[in-house]
Amino acid sequence: MKLAARVTQVTPSMTLAIDTKAKAMKREGIDVISFSVGEPDFDTPAHIRAAAEAALEQGKTRYGAAAGEPRLREVIAQKLQRDNQLCYGAENILVTNGGKHSLFNLMLALIEPGDEVIIPAPYWVSYPEMVKLAGGTPVIVSTTLENGYKITPDQLRQAVTPRTKLFVFNSPSNPTGMVYTPDEVRAIADVVVEQDLLVVSDEIYEKLLYDGAEHLSIGAVSPEAFERTIVSSGFAKTYAMTGWRVGFLAGPLPLIKATITIQGHSTSNVCTFAQYGAIAAYEAPQDCVQQMLDAFTERRQVILNSINAMPGLSCPKPDGAFYVFPNIGQLGISSLEFCDKLLDDYQVAAVPGIAFGADDCIRLSYATDVDSIRRGMDRLTTYVKSII
Ligand SMILES: *Cc1c(COP(=O)(O)O)cnc(C)c1O
Repeated sequence: MKLAARVTQVTPSMTLAIDTKAKAMKREGIDVISFSVGEPDFDTPAHIRAAAEAALEQGKTRYGAAAGEPRLREVIAQKLQRDNQLCYGAENILVTNGGKHSLFNLMLALIEPGDEVIIPAPYWVSYPEMVKLAGGTPVIVSTTLENGYKITPDQLRQAVTPRTKLFVFNSPSNPTGMVYTPDEVRAIADVVVEQDLLVVSDEIYEKLLYDGAEHLSIGAVSPEAFERTIVSSGFAKTYAMTGWRVGFLAGPLPLIKATITIQGHSTSNVCTFAQYGAIAAYEAPQDCVQQMLDAFTERRQVILNSINAMPGLSCPKPDGAFYVFPNIGQLGISSLEFCDKLLDDYQVAAVPGIAFGADDCIRLSYATDVDSIRRGMDRLTTYVKSII
């Protein structure tokens, strides 16, 4: 069978592949410790589950509006005004099957063959592949350890060409955990306005911040930046709702209308009763978020202490999300080889940095219990010492 060119250019998600292998080893009874998955290990908070159950009982089981339940669109718009100082109305919101689907809808609505999309590396695995699926060209800009893996205003300016259509901005970042400071966001916003770019701001980790780090939405910097911003986010990471598949896109009306049309012909509405869980997530007090954040804070300290004590690794301190992204460059071994051996010989799953456009790094997710983190870091230490 001859498959479409668009799909043969795309590589399967490496994070999902590692996770599949680790899970298969576990099924064989092998004691695998996994740092590979990018999802909270907590159950979805009880009040959110209860809201979805109640919706099921009330018959919220039918097709809904392709754009999302009206109440959820309102609640999301209110949240963006309250938390992010972004002035959207409910009509500016598209409810999607997760943040991943938001970005995919956006790429389909915006990107034409030949269009360039600027993506700072290390990047989230799916950005370049989505751009390619939409027929566009990813323009990867490599950032450095010295700059905390953040793109500089000059780097962004230099990457712009007459074909540039979009810039992908992700803070807090997956995979690095880096958070752009408000001043850094303002400096990036200045370039976006000066170069008249569109920016999609992936803010899915905005609530997972440590050590007093602050999140500033790039669209809140100025009215000129707001006009050029599209926000992508979702409920998965903040509320431990990865399997629910609820996210959203917020942006200018013509764009949102276009994405509603796309969604109307592809997925129709997001699971109706799941959207009622999402409404509860935003309407209820946010104690559950703080509780999960407290747990992440402790785990982050444990994993960072271990990594900083390991010879040959260097790791900038991440201020957000639930990942560390140590550099293994000094070990003289590719990230893929490093992670393969780590899994096969030490039963520890990590994701090779090459999946994120950084072959001298690995990604470890600390969305797992402290005991597993300690045991896993002991194994990693033994492995690293064996290489050095
Ligand atoms: C997890 C993640 C998403 C989207 O997740 P969904 O489960 O689809 O909501 C988007 N961007 C980044 C950077 C992520 O890590």
